[in-house]
Amino acid sequence: DKDRIRMKDKSDHATIENVLDSRIKNKLHKLFEKGILAEINGCISTGKEANVYYAKSKNKDEIAIKIYRTSILTFRNREKYIRGEYRFDHVHSLSNPRKMVKVWAEKEFSNLKRLEQGGVRAPRPILSGGHLLLMEFLGSDGWAAPKLKDAVLTDSKSRTLYRECIEIMWKMYNKCRLVHADLSEYNMLYHDGSIVVIDVSQAVDRDHCNAMEFLRNDCSNITAFFKKYDVGVMSLQALFDFITDPTINENNMDEYLDIRMQEGNEEKDPQQQEIEEAVFKKAYIPQRLTQVINVERDINLAKSGKDLIYKTLIGLKADLSKPAEKPEILANKHKADS
Ligand code: ADP
Ligand code: MG
Repeated sequence: DKDRIRMKDKSDHATIENVLDSRIKNKLHKLFEKGILAEINGCISTGKEANVYYAKSKNKDEIAIKIYRTSILTFRNREKYIRGEYRFDHVHSLSNPRKMVKVWAEKEFSNLKRLEQGGVRAPRPILSGGHLLLMEFLGSDGWAAPKLKDAVLTDSKSRTLYRECIEIMWKMYNKCRLVHADLSEYNMLYHDGSIVVIDVSQAVDRDHCNAMEFLRNDCSNITAFFKKYDVGVMSLQALFDFITDPTINENNMDEYLDIRMQEGNEEKDPQQQEIEEAVFKKAYIPQRLTQVINVERDINLAKSGKDLIYKTLIGLKADLSKPAEKPEILANKHKADS
């Protein structure tokens, strides 16, 4: 009865057979019976951790099916994305790959929901069950949208997309309370002239104990990608500050970014810039004021004009004197204007 899953050609058949154990086949058959699936028409991607297939529902809606692998090797690194946040406190055994993959699929589903609710463009999740996730297919006429890395972009388009991308990162953090944790040109699609975020199984709540490290890494990937174009990217730390500064909101964001992008376009000593980036990549970023190791020392440093990496993150003014009410660059600008 597996013939009911119609495959386009033999090679597709072979790939799907490899990952489909009997439980997945049962699950798929149930979906066929319910009409949620009517045909599976080939493989979009075979990755290290999952395969993605193109399918259609009875109503001819296009669907992407992501089927996660259960091989133990791919799970070695996953625990750190699940441990360390409240959503998965109930998960006790991560040693059983079958249970683990279920958590993983549920996690991606719940993260896609959060993106939808926070207004970030991502595939609309349809359902997750066992080892698979059904979501909206992004593409046209059965052709999947290209990854951002494969999109052909003019300089002016890449400038628009850079701005779009960092606003997406801001929204993910501030509206969806998520850090993607594997954000790069490989996990964004270029669809209808815009960026769509995919592959969020590893994305963590922003309260996750490693969230800041993951965010810094995302910032670094994005900066490296857009540096290839004539975009005038912000410094790594400026991007990180933009995303985490609690005084930035949808009303002052445009003004803030205009100034930051202007700075990005100004000529800077590339060597100095490289040093600053290297320092920032290694810096310890506390998530809360209580994690700051030596508050007194830091206050003295700040008073003597030294820049503290975490001041924006915890919402303090540069001299740590009191909570900031608006982004520092805007406060300075408005002072100068009046
Ligand atoms: P992984 O990287 O873990 O293998 P992804 O979620 O990144 O899994 O999916 C792999 C590839 O499948 C993506 O790079 C993209 O090309 C394609 N893909 C994933 N989801 C969709 C979707 N909803 N619509 C179209 N293509 C998709
Ligand atoms: Mg991916």
